[in-house]
This record gives sequence, structure tokens and C-alpha cells, in this order.
Amino acid sequence: MKILVVGNGGREHAIVWALLQSPQVTQVLCVPGNGGTATMDRCQNLSFRIDDFAGIARFAEVNGVSLVVIGPEFPLSIGIVDYLNNRNIPVFGPTRAGAQIESSKTWAKALMEDAGIPTPKSATFTDLTTARAYIEQQGAPIVVKADGLAGGKGVIVAETLAEALTAVELLFAQNYGRLLIEEYITGQEVSVIALTDGKTVRALLPAQDHKRIGDGDTGANTGGMGAYAPAPLATPALMKRVQNEVLEPTLAALKRKGIDYRGVLYAGLMIAPNGEPKVLEFNCRFGDPETQAILPLLATPLVDLLLACTEQRLAALPPIEWKPAVSTCVTIAAQGYPGNYDRGKVISGIDMATNEGTLVFHAGTQLKQNRVVTDGGRVLSVTSIAPDFASSIDRAYQGVKAINFEGMYYRQDIAQRALS
Ligand code: ATP
Repeated sequence: MKILVVGNGGREHAIVWALLQSPQVTQVLCVPGNGGTATMDRCQNLSFRIDDFAGIARFAEVNGVSLVVIGPEFPLSIGIVDYLNNRNIPVFGPTRAGAQIESSKTWAKALMEDAGIPTPKSATFTDLTTARAYIEQQGAPIVVKADGLAGGKGVIVAETLAEALTAVELLFAQNYGRLLIEEYITGQEVSVIALTDGKTVRALLPAQDHKRIGDGDTGANTGGMGAYAPAPLATPALMKRVQNEVLEPTLAALKRKGIDYRGVLYAGLMIAPNGEPKVLEFNCRFGDPETQAILPLLATPLVDLLLACTEQRLAALPPIEWKPAVSTCVTIAAQGYPGNYDRGKVISGIDMATNEGTLVFHAGTQLKQNRVVTDGGRVLSVTSIAPDFASSIDRAYQGVKAINFEGMYYRQDIAQRALS
């Protein structure tokens, strides 16, 4: 069976790796892929743009591709699944209508309110004067969110009134026509990534990620500097509440809107000190780097799960099985990230870092004249699985230390929270 994966991040490398664990997957094609997918057996990169729907569809038809898996949110938000569905090409991912759950925060909020899903209180604004007045009336801390895909840069958690007022000005000036202003809530965050075929929804292991650039959760927000799974915070009792109070009502609300949602339903949750989960955001795709932490623990073949979602037979599958282990995933970034950074630095030590329990997933890398060089802000992620967090953290950092490139940066405290 041939599978085509769209995307070029660490998430997509992990998806490709997990798909290739099944012998029936004879080849994975990656559009456009990265330096990691370029060097894997049974995997080939293709140089289509991710918005070249016609090129991707034609390739899939001519080459007998059995399934297309969409990694990132952007192609989902512009309708790649609708395009492939119209040509009867099996595809894993929601349609453009379903992807609004991520691409429009106001749309997602309305859906949650309609379905009674626990989420912080908020209001929507299309002009500066009313937004300012609302902030002054509500006070700080308060959260300002741009209504659109912003690559993690559209959310400002404002500690003071002045910061909040600057945030709304800044976002309106950047041509976001609509903003969501949300109540600030406290607690611990957890990511629950679930798979759905539109009828049944099943959660994967819960994960926690580390969004800030600096140790101790300090400094700028990033795409994610590391993750671990399963998050001890998300007990079986909490996961049951998430299933009953978040995942199932969300799917039902999507259905009521006439949306046949097949793919990933990812809930970014804040767990209040009293244990109540509230939804901060939904994503319509696998998380990055949570996926690199979760998939190495999966014992059920990923291909079986993705096909079952696409063919709407998830309910008939046995429960998802997991290895009796935990995982730690450390992101290695380029110096300067999430600001400006250089590319083209030669990377060494990836083979030394890789062993039975440790995997190195590429993100911003490229294969150039047979050498792997840096080609992005988040460059690699190193995942180690082990029976407990102390050993998984230790092994992940051993892997990280075997790798070298000029200016490499990583956080030193990934998964420490899991120990306490
Ligand atoms: P991502 O980069 O994961 O796509 P995003 O840009 O879509 O994120 P959110 O996940 O909604 O944005 O918010 C980013 C971060 O801001 C959250 O992880 C959380 O730490 C913080 N945050 C968001 N909403 C709230 C809130 N209501 N109260 C407190 N903190 C919040």
C-alpha cells in the first residue's frame, strides 16, 4: 500500500515513521517532506507545493496511492480534503468546513457555546473602539486572540490593561478583521489529540507540551520546544470527562452543522485547580511536537487507525493499544528562534543519537549534497521511550547531546513536570 503524507515538519516525519512500522505500507510519499523523510527507507519526497491540489491529486491517481494524510492546518483550511474527496481519493483530514474549528477561533467559540462545551467566556470584536471599551470594563489579565491561522503568534495573554490595549491595536493593524477577547483562566494545560471518523471519537494518550522558548516556561512563545506523554495530570477520570464533556459533544455539534468530520480533533485544554477541563482551542490536525511524543508509544498500527477514520469504521476497531512506556521529546532549535535564525548549518551525530528507544525526527532540515543541514527554526526533535519518566528524560538528553550543529539550542527542563 502506498500512502502520501502532506507536510514537512517533525509531526509529518513522526507520522511517516509510524506508518512505515506496518509491513503492508510499501511506500510513503512525502509532499514536500524534509531531510529526515528524504533519508528513510521506503520513503520518497515529492517537490509539489502543499497547495498544489491538482498536482497532488494527479500523482495519487496515477501512482495508486491508497491514502493521503494531511499534516498541517493550512492545506486543510483551504480545502485540500474537499478537492481530494471530489476525486474519490481516500484522505485523512477534515474538510474546509470542519477545519474552521481551528482556522476561525470565533467559529469554534460559537460551536462550543452552542454545544455547551466548557470554555472561557469571551466576546468577538470587529472594531478597535468597542474592543478597547470592553477591555477597560473587564480589566486585566485578559487574553486577546486573532481570528485566523497565525502560526501560534495570534494569541496575547495580557497581564496588564496597557498590554491588552496594545495587543488589540497591533492585531487590528495586522489586518485581522476580527478578534476574540477572552477571560483569563489558570490551571495546567494538556493536549488531547483524538481521532474521529465522524461518528466515533477516540482519544490518543494525553500529552503536555512546552510552548515557551526558555527553561521554566519563560520567554517568547514558540511552535513547541518539547512534549511528553502520557501526561500524568490527565488521569483516566479526567480523560473520561474530556470524552463525555468535550470530544463527543463537539462531534455532535459538528454533525448538527452538517459537517462530516473525519481526521484529528485536537483539544487544547486548561485543567482548573478543581479538576475541571476547559477548552482553550481546537486544532484540526496532529500537534507538533506532541505527535513526536505520542506516536512512538502507539502499539496499534497507525495505518489501521487512519484508514478506519477515512472509511468510517472506527467503532469496529478494538481499543487502541499502547506500549507500556512513557516518552519525552526534546526539540532542538536554531539559534535565534523564534526570531531570526540562520539556515544551512551542517548537522552531525543523528546516527549516534538514534537507538532502540530513541528516535530523531527532523523538522527544519534539508538533504544537501548528501549532508543534512538546518533549514528552519525548529530543526530536530529527539524522542526517547522508557518505562519511567526519569529514564526517558535521561535518554532523550543523551540523544540530544550526541547531536551537533552551530548554534543549536534546546530547553533543559523538558518533562520535569512529569516527575513531580
Ligand atoms: P497554537 O500555537 O497551539 O496553535 P494558538 O496560537 O492557536 O496556539 P491558543 O492555544 O488558543 O493559541 O493559546 C496559546 C496559549 O495562550 C495557550 O497555550 C495558553 O497558554 C494561553 N492561553 C490561551 N487562552 C487562554 C486563556 N483563556 N487563559 C489563560 N491562558 C490562555
